[in-house]
Amino acid sequence: MPDRSGDRPLGIFGGTFDPVHLGHLRLAEEAADQLDLAGVRWIPAGQPALRGAPQVTARQRLAMVRLAIANNPRFAVDAAEVDASEVEGARPSYTVLTLERLRRADACGAQRSLVVLLGADAFAGLPGWYRWQSLFDLAHLAIAHRPGFPIDRAGLPAGLATCYDARFCERSTTLAESPAGRIVTFAMTPLAISATQIRSLLAHDGSPRYLLPDEVIAHIRNHQLYLED
Ligand code: ATP
Repeated sequence: MPDRSGDRPLGIFGGTFDPVHLGHLRLAEEAADQLDLAGVRWIPAGQPALRGAPQVTARQRLAMVRLAIANNPRFAVDAAEVDASEVEGARPSYTVLTLERLRRADACGAQRSLVVLLGADAFAGLPGWYRWQSLFDLAHLAIAHRPGFPIDRAGLPAGLATCYDARFCERSTTLAESPAGRIVTFAMTPLAISATQIRSLLAHDGSPRYLLPDEVIAHIRNHQLYLED
């Protein structure tokens, strides 16, 4: 179905979500508010390209994202990367290919403003992404502050720093003025939560409460996930 939900930018939030936690949820919620997004499309990676295999299946990670965002009318899930990963001979999930799919006329089309949401740690690693420079032909980038990962212009790899200088905008309102190509940053409530920390707590009988939604914890318990590091 074509997405005609208005002229406001659409947030695109990819991740491994192994498992999804409150850091992810606050990032998406605060991005929606601060960047005046029409909504946020969550896209769990099928086979993440830049890290080892996730601890649980793509289908389980997708199920947990669905539970986490179920009651938020601004959030929706896109299962395409998970579906693709289950096809024989699946390739890793690449953001640039996902954005090309979203740009097709039967999805968001060429003119809709799309904003890829990511944490500062992920942004620093951008030059490792497949065809990373092409991302800016397809979407804007909004970088969330993350505890322990300052957005430090001087510390960026040279190619990324040049790109940042050329594309950075102070005002997030500029995101609605074009389909793609800008970089903005936004300060979210600092939450030093990571999926790594949660996996470790679960494997060592620690309590993960208040780090991720209760529904997701119940799913983890029911399916006996993350029993080992
Ligand atoms: P792991 O610990 O397994 O590496 P993670 O907690 O970083 O996982 P991912 O699924 O890899 O979670 O992250 C998806 C996106 O969310 C990335 O862009 C990441 O930078 C961002 N993110 C994750 N946790 C936070 C957080 N606490 N604050 C801000 N951004 C975050």
